[in-house]
This record gives sequence, C-alpha cells and structure tokens, in this order.
Amino acid sequence: MTREVMIGNVRVGGGASVKIQSMNNTDTRDAKATLEQIRQFAEAGCDITRVAIPDMEAAEAMKEISAGSPIPVVADIHFDYKLAIAAARNGASKIRINPGNIGGPDKVKAVVDVCKEMNIPIRVGVNSGSISRDILAKYGEVNAEAMTESALGAVRILEDTGFEDIVISIKSSSPKLTIDTYRILSKSCDYPLHVGVTEAGTVKEGVIKSAVGIGTLLAEGIGDTIRVSLTGDPIEEIYAAKSILKALGLREGGITFISCPTCGRTQVPLIELAEEIESKISNLPYDLKVAVMGCVVNGPGEARECDIGIAGGVNEFVLFEKGEPVRKIPAETAVEEFVKEVIRIGESKSKTD
Ligand code: SF4
Repeated sequence: MTREVMIGNVRVGGGASVKIQSMNNTDTRDAKATLEQIRQFAEAGCDITRVAIPDMEAAEAMKEISAGSPIPVVADIHFDYKLAIAAARNGASKIRINPGNIGGPDKVKAVVDVCKEMNIPIRVGVNSGSISRDILAKYGEVNAEAMTESALGAVRILEDTGFEDIVISIKSSSPKLTIDTYRILSKSCDYPLHVGVTEAGTVKEGVIKSAVGIGTLLAEGIGDTIRVSLTGDPIEEIYAAKSILKALGLREGGITFISCPTCGRTQVPLIELAEEIESKISNLPYDLKVAVMGCVVNGPGEARECDIGIAGGVNEFVLFEKGEPVRKIPAETAVEEFVKEVIRIGESKSKTD
C-alpha cells in the first residue's frame, strides 16, 4: 500500500478511495472566473483541482482562489521557484513541480522549506519530454525504465532535503508506456501515484486512451489519484474519470447508464434518445442504474438489474421498474416522461436509503 498524503482535507494514498483531479483552463489571474469553474468541477464530482501559475499575478490570485474554493487547489509551476513559494504561501494545497527544472538544489530547498512550513505536499511531475540527457544516453530511448529512473531521480532531490510528503506522476501520451512505467514505479517506491495519460487528445480519442491507460493500472491496484487529460471542456475529464472508476467498482453512487447498441430489431430512434436522456440525467445526484434499450426482446431482461429502464417497441417504449413492465410511453414524449420517472425513482430511493 502507498503511504498517505493529505491534499487539503482530501486523503490520497494509504488505502483511501481513488481521487479525481482536473485542471482549470481559466486564466488563473482571474480569480472569479477560476472559482466559478472550480465550483462546476466540484459539482461534477472532482475531488482536487490544479491551476497553472505562469506569473506572480497568478500566484497572488491563489489567495482568493484557495480561500473560496470548495475543493483543494494545487498550484502548477514550471521553472520559477519564486512562483512556487508565493503559491504555497498563498494557500495552495499542494505544489506541482519538476524539481529537475526549478533551478538547482538551493532553489529546491527554498521551495521545500515553505512547503514544510505550510504543511503541504509536493507532486513531482515528470513527463517523457523532460528526461535528462544522461538517462536518455543510458537507455538509448524513452522507455519505462528511463521514465522511472527520471522520476525517482527527481524524488531524490526532494528526499535529500529531508522532504517525503510526495506524490509522483510520470506522464506519457502513450497508454502502453504509461502502463509499463507505473508498473515499475509502483514496485520501486511507496509514494502515492497520480496516474494519467497526458496529452491524450480530443474527447473521443482521449477518453479511450485514458480508459485503457488509467483503467489497466487501477485494475491492478496501481494509482491513488487520476486525471483524464482531454483537449475539450475539462468537465468532460471529470465525467470520464468517474466512468472509469465506476466501471471498476471504485466509486459508488451517481447514475450508471446502460444502453444497447441497437440492431435490426430497433424500431425507435434509440441513439438520439439515449444521448438526450443521458445528457439530462448523468449529473443527477441519485444512486441509480438506468437502462435505455432498443427492444422488448432482450431489453427487459438486460435491464432487470436496473432500477428503471425503457425498452423500445414500435414508436413507443415500455417503462420497466426492476425488470417489471409498468406502462407504455410514446416515443415522441419518451425523453421528458422518462427523465421525470428517473427523478421520481431517485427521490424515493434516496428517502428509503
Ligand atoms: S436490446 Fe433489442 S434492439 Fe437493442 S441490441 Fe439488443 S436485441 Fe437489438
């Protein structure tokens, strides 16, 4: 088991549940806009967020952001140790740096001293593009061994100053390299691991790469906190992370949505309806399994383990609760009626829980 690290009031590692992270894409200097986005993240199920600190004005804005944020805020710094110190003093719950590019041992020590004083951890972030020439020369290519050695070297810089309140991330845009590297890393140390496939691409491609990379590792018990990294609205990262955790039984609650792939038996516009229904219910606060199926042949059976579902007929749906037919719903009003039913079931279930 990894050791435990506290990021604000959120426990990471040490057997705690896997935490979801995302990163704001607002201008950090605009504290109001950043806080508004953080609130949306928190509502969507994000546990920890990170903001970029490119200059001193952004580091100053951390005061207002960390004071107003409902979830811990991590400050992401490259190169300038003064920004790391300012962000830590201004309330960051964690600092993310690469100790190898912060400007030498004295500057690393200056950052570490402030993190110790403020009692906050440091995430050592190393990616495939930041491997030193020595290590590259030794291995001849960017591979899992080179990535691990690079990360552990960066960690050692912190350990040499007596600091061990550390989370490690090593990121590559290749799911395969990510998996191979974290497998080695998890055997080489007991620091909590922040897992993600970086620069994974747009939502469509990135979700798949992340599900493969992050999902494989989590299934092996590797990973304490995750970030799905997408070129898109960061809220999509949170939804994708939640889906990965739910698929592996690592996060309970919320809507689990099941729908069939459609086939020659489908006589309702299921694809459009399923997409519309999912978008309307995916963020509801109920712990429900919901099925939207194309036909009554397999639909009810497959939806039996669901709390509520619909199965298509000819221009109509049969509404099921716990696999039992309740009534028919016309296809034209299916979305509105079904969403109402989902809310009704959700409300009654939350009262009895
Ligand atoms: S539930 Fe019915 S419509 Fe959907 S894939 Fe199965 S058989 Fe086809």
